[in-house]
Amino acid sequence: MTGQPFSAPADVLIIGSGPAGWTAAIYAARANLRTVVFTGSGRNGLPGGQLMMTTEVENFPGFDEGVIGPDLMERMKRQALRFGVVTIEADVTRVEFSQRPFVVIAATSDGEEQYAGRSVIVATGASPLWLGLPSEARLRGRGVSSCATCDGFFFRGEAVGVVGGGDSALEEALYLARHASAVTVIHRRDQLRASKIMQDRARAHPAIQWALNKEVVEILGDRRVEGVRLRDTKTGEESVLPLQGLFVAIGHRPNTELFRGQLELDGDGYLITHRHTQTSIPGVFAAGDVADRRYRQAITAAATGAMAALDAEEFLTGERWTDWGDGQSLATQETSTYTPLAVIDSAAAPAVPEPIMTSPQRPRVVMYTTSWCPDCHAAKRYLGRLGIAYEEINIEETPGAAMLVEQWSGGYRTVPTFDINGTIIVDFNRDALDRALQSHRAASQVDQSD
Ligand code: NDP
Repeated sequence: MTGQPFSAPADVLIIGSGPAGWTAAIYAARANLRTVVFTGSGRNGLPGGQLMMTTEVENFPGFDEGVIGPDLMERMKRQALRFGVVTIEADVTRVEFSQRPFVVIAATSDGEEQYAGRSVIVATGASPLWLGLPSEARLRGRGVSSCATCDGFFFRGEAVGVVGGGDSALEEALYLARHASAVTVIHRRDQLRASKIMQDRARAHPAIQWALNKEVVEILGDRRVEGVRLRDTKTGEESVLPLQGLFVAIGHRPNTELFRGQLELDGDGYLITHRHTQTSIPGVFAAGDVADRRYRQAITAAATGAMAALDAEEFLTGERWTDWGDGQSLATQETSTYTPLAVIDSAAAPAVPEPIMTSPQRPRVVMYTTSWCPDCHAAKRYLGRLGIAYEEINIEETPGAAMLVEQWSGGYRTVPTFDINGTIIVDFNRDALDRALQSHRAASQVDQSD
């Protein structure tokens, strides 16, 4: 870290790009505050948060006919960009809240970059929970999934299960019922937590069955899911339910590891707020699911984003900042002209060198996708940023493609899956993609020197 002087700290650094983050950004930028949003890279969870995994959102006011989750996020993003918000498509790896201005460090393809901010809004949301069974880890991508819209297509005409009794589980079950022959909702109690409207819809669906008072103790199968061993939570009796896919939808945990030791958290890891949206450090605010164990709705996340931006504005008005800033409004700058305060070289940083893009022997990159797969969109953006041309094959529209993906990948049933000159990569993993692209470059150099 070079420790350059803080010549132009942003007014508000917003970590997270779900409804809370974008709404905070819209409010902050409209108040003419220099606003930066760290969207995440897509490597550790999806930029855009949980709504990127949602199909139809019916309860966001203003959308009388419903809106698709990723579309809602795209609209919020565009609205924020209209007011000059700067976006950094990178994962925040560290924060320093013990000093002023606050420092946020993000990992980019060039290493690490450090940003200074007079205030920070934490809107990092929550991540899906897993059951924690060894068999679950072993069979992830081989029939075990947390994203019905991504992987549901692989299970056409097959039997699948969904674990959980909340709105997410029933939403997944209703989506899966479009493809699968039977969907069993496996829930540990006999009362569902889901809203009445979702319960009514799921109960009315002929393909949805119920395994209530049951918990999954083991997922069966060697190279692919063949069933689950269930235990009755009342009697302890065990049974086997044959199925080919298992979708886990048992809730989320707040994404607060980054802040442990710096901000006050409750026993479950949620940020504790004092005085409205302020965290334990004045000038650092919390918005959305990261501090909300109760409501966790897109609209409440957006509302707390607005509150956090108003609180940040009030905080900034009460402080003397003139020694730190240059007084220039970031809202008038182009995104590309906002340079980080420091660039730290990192040996681990993935980098696809220029020659790959200009090589006469470009790698042949084929990406297999489905229409509602958020990771596929993140991967497309990533390849686009690298300037890598790719061929996209949507397995829903290409007869036989799903089966080919499964065969080539040795039994995986998940997208995105890539074929880079014969190297198959399952799932969107930037490091693996970079390595495959780099090895192509090395191979083409050897060929040329022969
Ligand atoms: P919830 O916390 O509401 O539900 C989680 C479910 O998983 C519960 O039924 C819970 O059981 C079960 N569960 C938790 N841990 C385990 C475990 N280890 N083993 C087995 N089962 C477990 O989470 P959701 O993601 O469903 O919903 C989160 C929020 O998002 C809610 O407020 C919901 O209303 C909202 N939402 C709204 C949607 C919409 O409006 N379209 C769609 C999706 C979500 P138990 O009930 O016994 O605790």
